[in-house]
Formats: sequence, structure tokens, C-alpha cells
Amino acid sequence: MGLIDIKRRIAAAEAAAGRPTGSVQLIAVSKVQPADRVEAVLVAGQRVFGENYVQEAAGKWPDWRHRFPHVEVHMIGPLQTNKLKLALDLFDAIHTVDRPSLAQKLARQVQARGSCPQLFVQVNTGVEPQKAGILPQDADAFVAECRGLDLPLAGLMCIPPDDQDPVPHFGQLREIAARNGLSGLSMGMSADFESAIAAGATHVRVGSAIFGARDYR
Ligand SMILES: *Cc1c(COP(=O)(O)O)cnc(C)c1O
Repeated sequence: MGLIDIKRRIAAAEAAAGRPTGSVQLIAVSKVQPADRVEAVLVAGQRVFGENYVQEAAGKWPDWRHRFPHVEVHMIGPLQTNKLKLALDLFDAIHTVDRPSLAQKLARQVQARGSCPQLFVQVNTGVEPQKAGILPQDADAFVAECRGLDLPLAGLMCIPPDDQDPVPHFGQLREIAARNGLSGLSMGMSADFESAIAAGATHVRVGSAIFGARDYR
């Protein structure tokens, strides 16, 4: 289990960037991982987790929340509007607000419930056709639209292209956030969380480096 090592590397990256210890939140991405690996990380004290699939999270987290206090579960995968209600029952944060139709339905649900998860707008910084996220050139207008719907935004999220240096993407996300007055930056995964922290990440999403490789069979 790589939790201790990852926490140490996060602390070192915070220090190297001249940032206070604890300023970066670690989201342990537990999607597809066997229950015993996740439980070991819960027992070791980790409390913030990331999931990609609503159904999978619904099958796992109610029981763990019952057994471990103060757990937070963050949705980091694409969110279908027909699963939105269930998602709002399950998640403390949604990192993948990526289109007007989702923002509009979210706003209606949030109004009805009187509570709102932490929200991040996903930006498709690499302009990849197969990837979710608002295009960079549409980001300012979409942030304004979310605010017009009274959706409080915590920040922005990105997943840089696999085959490119992620650092310019982190920089671009930071720039879009800064000009929109947003402080949260959800960026950096197992392979690049240290450079994301150097670029200003406030939330890093680390899966395989903590739990080991995912087995999708
Ligand atoms: C799976 C996933 C991660 C974690 O990826 P690792 O490379 O295992 O750290 C982070 N962010 C998102 C959006 C993911 O889907």
C-alpha cells in the first residue's frame, strides 16, 4: 500500500513549491479496486476518496461511511444526468461539471435539496474529441452560466492528454481559474501529481500509485 509514500511525496512537493503543508488535498481514487485494498487505506486514516462510476460507488460507500467516520467521496468520472439524483445522495464533491444541461439539472436539484456538493468544472484542456469537459475557449462563459444558476464553484478540473507533457495543461487550467476568481485546481494523477502541485494543484487524484494497478477484467 503506497499511501504513506504518496503522502510523503505530496508534503515534499508542497515544501518544494513553497506552499504550506496540508494545502493539497489527496483524493485516493478507489475505482475498480478490491475492497480489501480500500479498507486498508481507510484503516490507515485516509478519508477522501474518488470514484468514477455512480453504480459502483453506490454499492461500496454507504457501508464504509457507516463504519468509518468523516469519509468524503468525490465523483471524478463523467456524470449522466439520469444518475444525478443518486450521485447527489452519494457524493460530497463533483469534479466533472462539464456541460450546460448538467449544470441546469444540478441547479434544480440543489435548489430542491437546499444543499450542494463541492463543484468543479471539468475543462478539456487538450481539446480531445473523446474526452469530456468544456472547451477552454468556452470555459469563461460556462463558469458565468453556473454562477448565474447560483451554483457555487470550488474550482476547475482537467485530465491532460496521455501523450503530452501535462505541465502546459496544468498552467492553462490555473490561468482560466485565476481570471475567473476560482481557487480550486483538481489536477494531477499518479504519474504527474508532483508537477501538478508545483503548478498550483489544490486537489490531486491518485489511484494506482496508492492501491496498485487496476484490474478491469
Ligand atoms: C482513474 C482516474 C484517476 C487516477 O488515476 P491513476 O493514474 O490511477 O492515479 C484520476 N483522475 C481521474 C479523472 C480518473 O479517472
